[in-house]
Amino acid sequence: MTAVRAAPPTGVPASVLERYEPVIGIEVHCQLRTASKMFCGCSTDYDGAPPNTHTCPVCLGLPGALPTINRLAVEHVLTTGLAIDATIAATTRWERKNYFYPDLPKGYQISQYAIPLAAAGRLTFGTSGGDVTVGITRAHLEEDTAKLVHATTPDGRKVSLVDFNRSGAPLMEIVTEPDVRSAEAARRYAEELQLLLRAIGVSNADMERGQMRVEANVSLRPRGTEAFGTRVEVKNMNSFRSVERAVNFEIERQAAALDAGQPLVQETRGWDDGRGSTYQMRLKETSEDYRYFPEPDLPPLKVDAVWLDEVRARLAELPTARRSRYTSELGLSAYDAAVIVADPAMSAAFSAVLASDPSLPPKEVANLVAGDYGRAAKEIQERTPDGLVGRSSAAELAELLRRVAAGELSRANAKEVLGEHVRSGEAVSGIVAARGFRQISDASALSDVVDEVLAANPAAVGDYRAGKPQAVGFLVGQVMKATRGQANAGVVQAALRERLDRPAGDA
Ligand code: ADP
Ligand code: MG
Ligand code: ZN
Repeated sequence: MTAVRAAPPTGVPASVLERYEPVIGIEVHCQLRTASKMFCGCSTDYDGAPPNTHTCPVCLGLPGALPTINRLAVEHVLTTGLAIDATIAATTRWERKNYFYPDLPKGYQISQYAIPLAAAGRLTFGTSGGDVTVGITRAHLEEDTAKLVHATTPDGRKVSLVDFNRSGAPLMEIVTEPDVRSAEAARRYAEELQLLLRAIGVSNADMERGQMRVEANVSLRPRGTEAFGTRVEVKNMNSFRSVERAVNFEIERQAAALDAGQPLVQETRGWDDGRGSTYQMRLKETSEDYRYFPEPDLPPLKVDAVWLDEVRARLAELPTARRSRYTSELGLSAYDAAVIVADPAMSAAFSAVLASDPSLPPKEVANLVAGDYGRAAKEIQERTPDGLVGRSSAAELAELLRRVAAGELSRANAKEVLGEHVRSGEAVSGIVAARGFRQISDASALSDVVDEVLAANPAAVGDYRAGKPQAVGFLVGQVMKATRGQANAGVVQAALRERLDRPAGDA
């Protein structure tokens, strides 16, 4: 498969990558899409709510409060496990991960340690160097912490406040094997995982809103050697771009230290996006520090075959399956399939238009939704009930494509009609009639305009004859302008060339 985007410059000098091989493992925490929290009935709809308004004795960690398990949160992890081809544990248990921090009222987090719900999965994604498959060690369920707010009081004192609204929200942790070998692959893994989580409906996975938090463990080893080097965990990246930048920075920083003979320490570093560098946050805890032990207030969790089958039956089409359906059944290029599947709004439009008129060539539909429609979508937040942008309807988009195919509407005019239809929802026929658009494909009808444009633009004509064929593009543009975009650009181009290529003096 081709890459979704052109490879950005890696930022790491080739001389570093010739000597050292990066070894990267990625941990992702994502908030699960549920109505209530993990172990209590408090609502998870706390975004923008006043602090500490979505709390109860359970998520405040008050003594004696007892947790109960959110079934949907468990199903979301099962769904994820199935989607990444993981093995689902028939029985798992909850464990307490003990540590003290002001955002953790109980002094422990309920998590899964010895037996994760899902283990030994994988995810495949495209990169500029081809497809990469990364092993996923585990996906397990836990609860989120509260949030610390560092503020200054009106009289100038610095205070730290705790907002417990997020405390106890359901969180899934997904940990990869140390299989990732470049910063680009780290970014692509995170992008593909976000797409997957959204496609299966388990998380909104918005990085900027903290619904998906990506941490990268980075180490280097001399090329050709087996043993892993000391790893550094990098966190606080809040965009895909910063994931790539942070990993690249770490690769360079570690290479410089190793070259200078300085040993690396296992530590947690934060990414400072403004400075474009990482800084030390703390030395790394080991799992022994957490003194994990089974949660005495919850029974082991059993997942029987019937439940798992129910979850499997509801599994949505996965991005990988959708891409291969688009290429093998509909004949799209791998590139087009990747671009469309990567954007849920485009996928929705593509499926809806084809469903509305299955006789349309899929390639034409793909060009529309990935091109002009995609551009219109960028400016419009509004969605129709079937997931289309603005007020557009699939039947009208199909009508637009039919008119272009029949030669009734020029591509330039079609673009204008599309923009207006997406904004207003008005029918294509109405817009075309009101604007008086009719494609002019008859060369004789265009002959006068072509002559006028040539006469009015001697400089461009001179450029063309002086061996600059691209000057014809400018002249085509002038004819389109003079005909309000109604001219058939192909016919115009042929007519212009025919005159321009005549020996000078004949024109
Ligand atoms: P912790 O909770 O200590 O961070 P995890 O097991 O949750 O430990 O995560 C460890 C992550 O680090 C995994 O993604 C793993 O693949 C990765 N990893 C382990 N060893 C190395 C290494 N030497 N270099 C890079 N990544 C590593
Ligand atoms: Mg970690
Ligand atoms: Zn609660």
